[in-house]
Amino acid sequence: MPFVDGFQHSRYYVARIRGQKPLMDLRVIEIFLSIQGESSHAGRPCSFVRLTGCPMRCVWCDSEYTFYGGEHVSFEDIFAKLDEFGCNLVEVTGGEPLAQKAVFPFITELCDRGYEVLIETGGYVSTEEVDPRASIILDVKCPASGESSRNHWPNLERLRPDKDEVKFVVADLDDWQFANEIVAKYDLAARAKEILISPVHGVRNLAEIAEAVSLQPCEGTT
Ligand code: SF4
Repeated sequence: MPFVDGFQHSRYYVARIRGQKPLMDLRVIEIFLSIQGESSHAGRPCSFVRLTGCPMRCVWCDSEYTFYGGEHVSFEDIFAKLDEFGCNLVEVTGGEPLAQKAVFPFITELCDRGYEVLIETGGYVSTEEVDPRASIILDVKCPASGESSRNHWPNLERLRPDKDEVKFVVADLDDWQFANEIVAKYDLAARAKEILISPVHGVRNLAEIAEAVSLQPCEGTT
């Protein structure tokens, strides 16, 4: 659902014209209220803040519409929209939400306001600066994505077993093997609250992947 109608940006731009310190903003594709469809939070009402831009180009990406466009929206206007929704759970997603520097103070302010915050990240950008009160859902890129060489591996070592989740989107059995190796190498069963395995949307060998996952689940997978 496009969010842009109804936002008032005038104070932000007037401040810029007058040379005042502008309010902080983010480039946003959409803000909407829905039901969480992924992770262990699936089924919960959730507000989504979807940010513009991603430095990666996964071959099976279904979110190309987030790469460009959107609008600069002040923190103040984003919070006003979230207040309107009245939902305590907020996911910041993209694109790659951590690609915009201003997202880090935004996440902190969300936490300060008492929201339960989920960050869905593609794993290219370091999670080090994310407010520790937010939960990370870290997407590890498998070989078939074409972007596995860009995984920022230290992110895996920062996962916390009480709140962070790790996700592998698999397109074939080689991806599934890769996921198993990474789970073992980084001891993700101990480090992450959940290990999520998700098939690439529309993949033709879904039954084969499902059988492999069910016959040889890595410890901790969902
Ligand atoms: S990280 Fe996510 S948004 Fe970026 S290209 Fe990959 S799937 Fe698409």
